Amino acid sequence: MVKVAVLPGDGVGPEIIQAAKVVLKKVEQVFGIELQLKEGAFGGVGYETYGVPFPEETKKLVEESQAVLLGAVGGTQWDALPRHLRPESALLALRKELGLYCNIRPVKYYEVLAEKVAWKSELLTGVDLLIFRELTGGAYFGTKGRKEKEAFDTIQYSWEEVERLVRRGFATANKRKRILHSIDKANVLESSRLWREVVNQVALEYPYVKVEHLYVDNAALQLVVNPQQFDVIITENMFGDILSDLAAAIGGSLGMLPSASLGGEINLYEPAHGSAPDLAGQNKANPIAAILSLALLLRFTCRKEEAAQAVEKATEEILGAGCATEDIASKNSRVVGTREMAELIAQRVDRNLF
Ligand code: NAD
Repeated sequence: MVKVAVLPGDGVGPEIIQAAKVVLKKVEQVFGIELQLKEGAFGGVGYETYGVPFPEETKKLVEESQAVLLGAVGGTQWDALPRHLRPESALLALRKELGLYCNIRPVKYYEVLAEKVAWKSELLTGVDLLIFRELTGGAYFGTKGRKEKEAFDTIQYSWEEVERLVRRGFATANKRKRILHSIDKANVLESSRLWREVVNQVALEYPYVKVEHLYVDNAALQLVVNPQQFDVIITENMFGDILSDLAAAIGGSLGMLPSASLGGEINLYEPAHGSAPDLAGQNKANPIAAILSLALLLRFTCRKEEAAQAVEKATEEILGAGCATEDIASKNSRVVGTREMAELIAQRVDRNLF
């Protein structure tokens, strides 16, 4: 049985995690699977209960699990605390502890949210892409230095660091449309030349995957003018950080964007948004990012592809039927709250949706 540490966190975290649990309950019934969920205090709640944002009890719970499903952390009431006691420091510690080197951000365009997206609809129809971002190397973690009016950050990657991310990208591309875009800046950066060598080497094992190398500046342009050409994108840390936020605009709301961070034994699944304190406790938060993060957990940790797709398909159908939380509502929507959205999606989860 897959053990999952559930860390609802702060703000809207508990509401959206509860919503994901409602959907999971239905998935378990329909697909005959069972997950063992245990909740832990994390973030501001951890600080209030145990005096630290990442309590020992929660660390132990995480260590005994195969996956973590996280809501969100943070809130203004903890902003004045010293940095190591702030809720966000727990998140950084968790990511570091788990050695999560592969961040996956799916970006899907839902026709029904056309009004919420700045792009022209015809450019986006069918867009359903995955960005694989290397998460533990590159400029954010390389040697840094500051000398009065001079400063530097180093982008450094080993072959192994690149290869493990690249392999995950190829394996996924091979199961999807067999199109892989590798983003680098190999015309000027040595680290990108290494990146490209690794990609070309791994490509030999995947003769049916069509590989395209793009420079990051062109990739940013292409994501805006022709996002339909992409399916799986692989890239290093900083380029991935920027491109995944650019592509996120296609989703229509922060409340629509799930994420998975994979690495060693324990993987982390969480919505891309924060704790949205402005919505907390009002049954207004969009639970879809959390529900789609659950779908990623079913796919990547439980290896239940059919169940993952059922959740994604049910979500799409409910959106297509015009149900929307406030953040994604347009004039013809039927506006629903967090709980009702979860119940509607759960009811729609079915083996026979395909
Ligand atoms: P945020 O993502 O919480 O909110 C930004 C805006 O998006 C707000 O208007 C909010 O109402 C809206 N929004 C976010 N999630 C939504 C949802 N599910 N449904 C509908 N609308 C949603 O970012 P912020 O306001 O910059 O930060 C708030 C707190 O969250 C801060 O304490 C910050 O440090 C923390 N934070 C945590 C994480 C995390 O836990 N991973 C990430 C980012 C920010």
